[in-house]
Amino acid sequence: MDFTISEKMQTILGMVTEFVQKELIPLELDFFSKPLAAMEPILQEKREMVKKMELWGPIHPTEYGGMGLNLMESALMYEAMGVTPLGLYCFGTQAPDAGNIEILHQYGTDEQKEKYLRPAIEGKIRTCFSMTEVQMPGSNPTMLETTATKDGDDYVINGHKWFTSSADGAEFAIVMAVTNPDAGPYMQASMILVPTDTPGFNRVRNIPVMGHVGEGYFSHAEILYQNCRVPQKNLLGPEGHGFIMAQDRLGPGRIHHCMRWIGICNRAFDLMCARARDRTIAPGKTLATKQIIQSWIAECAADIQAARLMVLHAAWKIETVGKKEARNEISMIKYVVPNVMQKVIDRAIQVHGGLGLTDDTVLSHFYRHERAARIYDGADEVHKVSLARRLLRGYEGKKVR
Ligand SMILES: Cc1cc2nc3c(=O)[nH]c(=O)nc-3n(C[C@H](O)[C@H](O)[C@H](O)COP(=O)(O)OP(=O)(O)OC[C@H]3O[C@@H](n4cnc5c(N)ncnc54)[C@H](O)[C@@H]3O)c2cc1C
Repeated sequence: MDFTISEKMQTILGMVTEFVQKELIPLELDFFSKPLAAMEPILQEKREMVKKMELWGPIHPTEYGGMGLNLMESALMYEAMGVTPLGLYCFGTQAPDAGNIEILHQYGTDEQKEKYLRPAIEGKIRTCFSMTEVQMPGSNPTMLETTATKDGDDYVINGHKWFTSSADGAEFAIVMAVTNPDAGPYMQASMILVPTDTPGFNRVRNIPVMGHVGEGYFSHAEILYQNCRVPQKNLLGPEGHGFIMAQDRLGPGRIHHCMRWIGICNRAFDLMCARARDRTIAPGKTLATKQIIQSWIAECAADIQAARLMVLHAAWKIETVGKKEARNEISMIKYVVPNVMQKVIDRAIQVHGGLGLTDDTVLSHFYRHERAARIYDGADEVHKVSLARRLLRGYEGKKVR
């Protein structure tokens, strides 16, 4: 495998890293302590700067003003942007918008594209994705209870969702609802575009997560759909194809998540090493002279390197042989990388002592907010079970000596 990074990407990554260091990292402490409303104008200013630098929307199509990078290229850019919690938002590629944009681009009608896709890519509106339900296991989406029933020219949606990230202030939701209850388990649900000002779209609250209620883009909402009526032309893609469409976006989406998490690992690792170097623990002795700290540093460096190579390999496999053939690699990275990230952040906090628990560094933010990585987009256990099942299938009737 060739690990060379093209000249074009070297230039882009250099620009991203410089921007993140100079323009975004200095905003972090304010971001942790001030209301989002106070931060929005300055974040919008940074977003405009990114657009002028032509670094906006790395994975979005060029005809809509994105960069149109391929998977390997965008993976590297996610790593560079991921070192700060403000990175993806300021480069116009934050979840859930990025995934929703991909779905709209692939399946939207011309009318849907003009109304929803274009302004979403341009960063003029935000979006959300509403699938997980309060009463049903998100790990088994064939058990959805939310229904979309046809009535005249409309769908009438009823259901109780939560963890609809960024619904606060979003223009529309892509709602996953059962339209075909008599079809097979994977052909029952559809994706439907629901403007958030539709009567019956009731945002109950932003859910407190790890001590933070959040607001605007940085929040997760509980939503009650109560006789929420939208025209049938708001169906996205074919009826009953909701799962197929959701599966379709998951492979590349997981590469991007994982590379953002590698970016977080890199940041936590840098902070850990710098603190170990600078913290005097006894006269003339810094933390970096202690073998136990050296061992953590060596372990974390190797773990990050191994995880990073696994992700890049999975991306390469998706690009060369396709998502289906790369299923095992995609499953593996989805549980390996979050666990490496959790370990690296935890070690970095430990090296910082009490300081690590304060909001004076980014570490406590990462610790609180990135724990979720082991749960969303398939919990660790779900990926492990399905990977093991596939691997064991290869041993059926096989002689092993
Ligand atoms: C921060 C955050 C943001 C999110 N954003 C969104 C969003 O924007 N839109 C959206 O629709 N959803 C979102 N989600 C929801 C997320 O997709 C679900 O939480 C996830 O799918 C798990 O579903 P659940 O919470 O119902 O857990 P459950 O399905 O009840 O699972 C609970 C636990 O059971 C175990 N488990 C489950 N299945 C198996 C199995 N087969 N074998 C062994 N163990 C198993 C796992 O340990 C799992 O963590 C978000 C979640 C979080 C935490």
